Amino acid sequence: MNSILIRNVQLDGKGTDVLIEGNRFKRIAPGIEPEGAKVVDGSGKAIVPPFYNTHTHAAMTLLRGYADDMELFSWLNDYIWPAEAKLTGDDIYVGTRLAALEMIRGGTVFFGDMYWHQPDAARAVEETGLRAALGLLYITGTDGEVLERNRHNNAALLEWNGGDSGRIQVVYGPHAVYTVSEPVLRQIAADARDGHRVHIHASETAREVRECIEAHGMSPIAWLDEVGLLGPHTILAHAVHLSDEDIDLIRERGCWIAHCPCSNFKLASGQFRYRRAVEIGGCRFTIGTDGCASNNNLSMLEEMKFAALSAKGESGDPTAGRDGDIFRAATRSGAEAFGIDAGLIEEGRLADAMLVDLDHPLLVPDYNLTANLVYAADSSVIDTVICDGRILMEHRKIDGEEEIIADARRVCAKIRAL
Ligand SMILES: [Zn+2]
Repeated sequence: MNSILIRNVQLDGKGTDVLIEGNRFKRIAPGIEPEGAKVVDGSGKAIVPPFYNTHTHAAMTLLRGYADDMELFSWLNDYIWPAEAKLTGDDIYVGTRLAALEMIRGGTVFFGDMYWHQPDAARAVEETGLRAALGLLYITGTDGEVLERNRHNNAALLEWNGGDSGRIQVVYGPHAVYTVSEPVLRQIAADARDGHRVHIHASETAREVRECIEAHGMSPIAWLDEVGLLGPHTILAHAVHLSDEDIDLIRERGCWIAHCPCSNFKLASGQFRYRRAVEIGGCRFTIGTDGCASNNNLSMLEEMKFAALSAKGESGDPTAGRDGDIFRAATRSGAEAFGIDAGLIEEGRLADAMLVDLDHPLLVPDYNLTANLVYAADSSVIDTVICDGRILMEHRKIDGEEEIIADARRVCAKIRAL
């Protein structure tokens, strides 16, 4: 069995050794003998949980900087959707690999994805060693039927069904209430009833809420409940425009919110009511970066800082959005929302971790590592990333990096020429 011994590393402020066997943390204690394990020198480093990005569109890395500074609906209709329509499965593979490279560099080991050509994204995830939840994408046309393109890719994804690695799960990914017809939403609710996860954009903009009230006489959150889609396995991306009643419903149904502050700021969608929804309302929340075209990166470190600042700015209270709560949302809660037994450095858990460089200027002084990670750090503090007991980056080196960059440049030259 593959085993790794991380020697003399700091865990919660104390020096220890960490032994990984197979894909789990086997033992955490000082003075463990290596006995055939690969030894990683942890001196001068801390071991912390890595990030679980609960809402993104990974291959949108190909559209980074393609169309910026626009209103959401014209951004989607006039730029993003026409460009996406021309992307092939191989392009998605290349874009997902570029995303994986960026995520590993930034300490992210999991992403909840909602995008086209999912079997090709799956191939990229398998190869790069990350975890992912790939969504069966549903968008309906003017006839109310699911787009042929979605049907074709969803069937292929279902047939493949997660592969053998155990790192990839298939979930339902209806796009939003404004792009999926009522019968299809109800059908997904019926199909997902036995504990399947559902990942959907919800109440992202004021316009979405207004149009939902006009069409159905209720908010998107109430409408999702009406069609049977709210439950403990539901991940609501954005959830910016929530009424007090929406917040109560989200808490009562046990849904998770994927808070995406950078995208919400960039598209001027509004600010998530963090104080009301999380600290007063008790809703469960996680953090997502959204796609690269509306962010424009996949940095969970940056997203944590924005989440904390957004909470303070929106509430007018600097005690809102505490560093510990934000860090937990970006790590352990993200894993929990997608049913992954990870996100804590603890014996028996799946071995996902990152080693951060305590000698990096951004982590000095060391009064509070969590505060340093949320407010000060950038990805250059991350030295090593481990996912499922496998080292994906060691001393900032990732296998195959040059090829991934070269492939991405080739596909982007094609997009530029469209
Ligand atoms: Zn999104």
